[in-house]
Amino acid sequence: MTESLNRVEISLAALKHNYLLLKSKAPHSGVIAMVKADGYGHGMLACAKTLVKAGTDYFGVAEAVEGVDLRKNGISQPILIMAGLLKEVIPSLFDYDLTPAVVDGTFLAALSAEAGKRNQSLTLHLKVDAGMGRQGCLLRDMAGIIEQINALPGLELGGILAHFPRADEPESDSTPTIVATFCREVEKVRSMLPDDIILHLANSGGVLYFPVSHKKMIRPGISLYGYYPDGTQGRKNAAEPCLQPVMRYSSRVTQVKEVPKGTGLGYGHSFITKRPSRIAIIPVGYEDGYSRALSNRGCGLIHGQRVPVVGRVSMNLTMFDVTDLEEEVVAGDEVVLLGRQGREEISADEIGDLLGTISYEVVCLIGNLNHRVYLAGTVSQDFAQNVSGKQDES
Ligand SMILES: *Cc1c(COP(=O)(O)O)cnc(C)c1O
Repeated sequence: MTESLNRVEISLAALKHNYLLLKSKAPHSGVIAMVKADGYGHGMLACAKTLVKAGTDYFGVAEAVEGVDLRKNGISQPILIMAGLLKEVIPSLFDYDLTPAVVDGTFLAALSAEAGKRNQSLTLHLKVDAGMGRQGCLLRDMAGIIEQINALPGLELGGILAHFPRADEPESDSTPTIVATFCREVEKVRSMLPDDIILHLANSGGVLYFPVSHKKMIRPGISLYGYYPDGTQGRKNAAEPCLQPVMRYSSRVTQVKEVPKGTGLGYGHSFITKRPSRIAIIPVGYEDGYSRALSNRGCGLIHGQRVPVVGRVSMNLTMFDVTDLEEEVVAGDEVVLLGRQGREEISADEIGDLLGTISYEVVCLIGNLNHRVYLAGTVSQDFAQNVSGKQDES
């Protein structure tokens, strides 16, 4: 066996479950599944293929290169390119039938010229800044840009989108205000728009907490992968059925050591044992996305029980105090760093809280830095681990 002992398991059944759950919350909207960042660390291609089977209408990625990758792997649904439109990217939009989100008028003439040269047309979406304060044109410039698009041959305006800054706050009036502003401004230019224009605003927070934002399409990201945009609070407040985390990250114990009281553990001796201790060592470190900031703070699951990280997380090694586990831990036992083992679970929200970040960053880091394995069972089969957490070699 030459694969890493560290593995990220992806439950495609959980992904499908989440997709269908989100779809049921916005039954009249199509879905632009956000698979940027290599599917938030879950693997863009495998996720996209599963999402196609589940019924996804459209995909969203950050850069054109990701769209090209989807096309080369047989994805035929429309693909929206959210970021990174520069002149040199334009040919690939035509070569691979990708739909750019334009944010101002800068590249419209160049897009039109390329369309003319190829005798092709290009559908684009216009991203407006309706309150996000980031990418997109200001609302007062929207009419002028639409006029430009309509005047240029070979360009078709297929959609208008905006993004929310605070849709992860169910109590905030930011989101409904932005929806109202967006709709009011779009109404003003309605006569300039095609009848079948796709209006879309809702990220996961919009989908889950603000039905008023659903419009013709929704654009869920993190929720597809099983996490609530407002983290632990969102999960606590959610009614059944809940989103199911898609990712599980595990490693194996490679050494168990008995050390006396007063032993300094690892770099900087940041942990000194207060009793004779049993320490389990695993081949995971910050290079695997298991942040050094989890030193003396993180938790793992062994034999279905929580065990604390002791000492510094180093580049390739992390230690757990397994003194309190009843059954002896031995080399080869499974350690879960993210996800479920037996009845215990460590969520990306929990890790995010410890790190002062959000689940998004945790799953991107761990998912994109480790070997991924795709599970093909049902949601409960995929993550139904025996409580002992002991793995037979298979
Ligand atoms: C990433 C992204 C989304 C998805 O956001 P989530 O909070 O992950 O649901 C939606 N829209 C745009 C424009 C995005 O960039």
